Amino acid sequence: MAIQKNDQATRRFMLKLGTASLVVAAGVGVASTASAKVPQKGVQYVAVSTKPKMKCGNCANFVKPNACKTVDGVISPEGYCMIWAPAPK
Ligand code: SF4
Repeated sequence: MAIQKNDQATRRFMLKLGTASLVVAAGVGVASTASAKVPQKGVQYVAVSTKPKMKCGNCANFVKPNACKTVDGVISPEGYCMIWAPAPK
């Protein structure tokens, strides 16, 4: 009888531990997803490029119609930032 109570207590403890671990893992996942992109200021993004051949619209990171894989926020196809990279042709 005493052994059964210990088993049940251990099982309850393991369930609580597992639930707590899932909650922590989910929180870390949300935090890392939210901070995956860099802020526009951090890469000196401008909405209108001063370099005619280097625009977000022909950058490898640009996502139509107005986003970027790397930089946060609304991105104009006419914009530019310091991590511009040519899109594959
Ligand atoms: S130049 Fe490229 S990396 Fe920079 S914001 Fe525009 S699309 Fe993103």
